[in-house]
Amino acid sequence: MKILEIENLSKSYDGKKFALKDCSFSLEAGNICAVVGESGSGKSTLLRLISGLERPNSGFIKIEGKTVSDDNQIIPPQERNTGFVFQDYALFPHLTVEQNIAFGLKNNKKERVRELLELIKMEGYENSYPSQLSGGQEQRVAIARTLALKPNLLLLDEPFSNLDSNLKTELRQEIRQIVKQIGMSMIFITHDLLDAIDISDEIIFLKEGEMLQHSSISEFSNNIQSEEVRNIISDLKSNANRILEMVN
Ligand code: ADP
Ligand code: MG
Repeated sequence: MKILEIENLSKSYDGKKFALKDCSFSLEAGNICAVVGESGSGKSTLLRLISGLERPNSGFIKIEGKTVSDDNQIIPPQERNTGFVFQDYALFPHLTVEQNIAFGLKNNKKERVRELLELIKMEGYENSYPSQLSGGQEQRVAIARTLALKPNLLLLDEPFSNLDSNLKTELRQEIRQIVKQIGMSMIFITHDLLDAIDISDEIIFLKEGEMLQHSSISEFSNNIQSEEVRNIISDLKSNANRILEMVN
């Protein structure tokens, strides 16, 4: 089953320049897809369109087979079964971990919070405040708060950009495990190809609002479809080689 279908989606904020241009792809339920591109390439725009925070100029979006955005209708974010985790976590500083996670819940709060703390391996942190947590813990609580509402599609905007590299490596694996464990689908944005390789099943390369390539992670480097993607990969290779030369 397809969790997400996007056809000829375009978005311009000013009516002149396209932030996203004629974008089409679909995502199978249970898969994780990374969207990689430089700053300004349209990554956040794509995610905001999927979540319903923005209205497309043309094209359509279907979630679980149901049209949620097209020329004449837009279903609001809270009715889309999607969960959005923002770049800066946006936890409520004056609320405890438990209160943050339970924020949108109506009943069975304690029970659900306990399950989620177990899932993110933070049992015992119920009464801590965000300021008492590490960056990685804050990020996990932000994800738990979103998961509390049981979305079918999780959307993460640059989830690792505020973390140091040790934490990042650890969290990458954890997020993949969490998402796979509950059989959810996820799209996450990054400007770091290594994030994509570590976490996802599929990858989309964006440049100046246009999709350069959409491939599975296992195949993308054997089937490079543009000069730009070739450049991204060769930059990464030459950096890796420089590091290897230094340690040898
Ligand atoms: P990314 O997340 O890849 O950095 P964005 O989707 O934020 O890229 O931005 C894509 C383009 O759209 C950029 O040129 C940016 O300046 C423009 N843009 C993004 N948000 C807005 C907005 N709210 N109003 C006007 N222009 C915007
Ligand atoms: Mg962005």
